[in-house]
Amino acid sequence: MTKPMFETVALIGIGLIGSSLARVIRAKGLAGQICIATRSEPTLNTARELDLGDSYSSSNIEAVANADLVIVSVPVGASEAVARDIGPYLKPGAIVTDVGSTKASVVRQMQPHIPSHAHFIPGHPIAGTEQSGPTAGFAELFEGRWCILTPPAGTDAEAVTRLTGFWEACGSTVEQMDPDHHDLVLAIVSHLPHIIAYNIVGTADDLEAVTQSEVIKYSASGFRDFTRLAASDPVMWRDVCLHNKDAILEMLARFSEDLSSLQRAIRWGDGDKLFELFTRTRGVRRSIVEAGQDTEAPNFGRNTAKPDTPGAAE
Ligand code: NAP
Repeated sequence: MTKPMFETVALIGIGLIGSSLARVIRAKGLAGQICIATRSEPTLNTARELDLGDSYSSSNIEAVANADLVIVSVPVGASEAVARDIGPYLKPGAIVTDVGSTKASVVRQMQPHIPSHAHFIPGHPIAGTEQSGPTAGFAELFEGRWCILTPPAGTDAEAVTRLTGFWEACGSTVEQMDPDHHDLVLAIVSHLPHIIAYNIVGTADDLEAVTQSEVIKYSASGFRDFTRLAASDPVMWRDVCLHNKDAILEMLARFSEDLSSLQRAIRWGDGDKLFELFTRTRGVRRSIVEAGQDTEAPNFGRNTAKPDTPGAAE
């Protein structure tokens, strides 16, 4: 048996991401001990029932006491409180990282509370689903996905190499980025799509001329694909919007301009313009499939051949 990469890993937060980490750490023997902390008893009990770790506590302090690696997996708005909590109790040489979907805000919130004898390396695995909680996790979540690390200038290179090795062992490819650049990139590839999905599903829900039952009944015509994103955790996405405000507003402004241009093309019957855009966007989908970030199976590989469901997804 090979030596684990870390003697003791503390997981603060044991929802979708934290529990997926627990599972992959176990499956691949990446840690000698997994210490789990989460604030609520019900979540802690579920983690215990699922046998995700070696020790369980509702105290973050207890969990980090002997940890070589601390991974904070809570909504980004809770990062500061957790950092303030654990800062004084971190072991010398401990690596502290997070998985939050925004980075500049997390750095602002956490960095002041991490003592100089520990290494603070923020991170973000670009992997997830619309589900949350410890039962939603699975060991393969990070396989074939990117993980972005945003180490502050002057971070110990060996600590960055160790954390990079950890994420690679979880199946990810690691890239380093400046936190502001991360936030801009994620605003367009993740945050805006979710906001658009929340908005369109909200609009459909508000419509009076089209009934609720019609929206559900004919959802396979496109609407359904938005509902997956719009079913994502409300706390997580509230925090993402509040903590990546500037980048999201910048991308929303660009989006609104382009939407107005599309609206004009439809109004004036500019078929060439519509055709050109729709052809270009089809190419983007092809690139995503070629990059191994999605399946090439039609309709995301869903089985649409239910005989009693007329009209395959459009
Ligand atoms: P989740 O399944 O909802 O789990 C959240 C965890 O954080 C739970 O252990 C919860 O504890 C704890 N928590 C919630 N509010 C808290 C608070 N105010 N203070 C302290 N702890 C709190 O969430 P998740 O999907 O794993 O997301 C965790 C982080 O990963 C977020 O920062 C998110 O931005 C990031 N992320 C998510 C995805 C995704 O697709 N979901 C992908 C990449 C990154 P209790 O249950 O005990 O209350």
